Amino acid sequence: MLIAIEGIDGSGKGTQARRLHEWLPTQGHSASLISFPRYSDTHFGATIGRFLNGEFGQLDQVDPHLAATLYAADRFESKSVLVDQLASHDVVVADRYVPSNMAHQGAKRLGKERQKLQDWISKVEYDVFQLPRADLVIHLDLPAETAQELIAKKSKRDYTDKAADLQEADRDYLDSVRQSYLELASREEAWRTVTLLDGDRLRSIEEIGEEIAGLATQAITAARSNSDSQGE
Ligand code: ADP
Repeated sequence: MLIAIEGIDGSGKGTQARRLHEWLPTQGHSASLISFPRYSDTHFGATIGRFLNGEFGQLDQVDPHLAATLYAADRFESKSVLVDQLASHDVVVADRYVPSNMAHQGAKRLGKERQKLQDWISKVEYDVFQLPRADLVIHLDLPAETAQELIAKKSKRDYTDKAADLQEADRDYLDSVRQSYLELASREEAWRTVTLLDGDRLRSIEEIGEEIAGLATQAITAARSNSDSQGE
């Protein structure tokens, strides 16, 4: 089963993906972790690093179809790694996956145009590149303002010499990506949203982790009973 951890930059995806990956074996499920974009592992990942550093222009200067193609190509280039991981483990945890592309690039369009662009991305990733769909998408939701505070705590990354890359530094952009994620969550069946604020308080990493573990357990149990009933 493929579980994708999604949410805006700074929402704690990396932290929670690592936790879930470590927790699953304690429940008897072998698990593997993959993180997109694969900046230093793929040819296209390196180009995404350049895009996020502003080498091809500011965010609104690069057509979202072109930006989306880079992210999709990074996954296409990683397909055999992902397929091998799925074949050799019970669960693959992905820190970002196709929904990131739909949310981020979709955020650059409004209304019907947004959905049209998201449908186009879905066609490229799932139909043209034949990438597997996630069985469960765990969507971490928090306001852009809180996310930016968490981004400031992040350690230096390989692909950028800046503390925050082009996307992370732009509050309005992060806000529209959040909206775009919330819209997707409301219409996609495999999505579960985890609300990170409890009133004004940011829930602890452990508290959020427990909710995520519960969602993963539910999905694994449902998949098991599904395959059992198909086997009968
Ligand atoms: P993302 O992968 O979504 O960009 P990270 O997992 O890198 O986010 O988290 C960003 C920073 O915020 C890290 O320093 C992480 O330790 C911290 N962090 C994540 N979740 C929480 C939380 N619930 N409370 C406090 N700090 C957090």
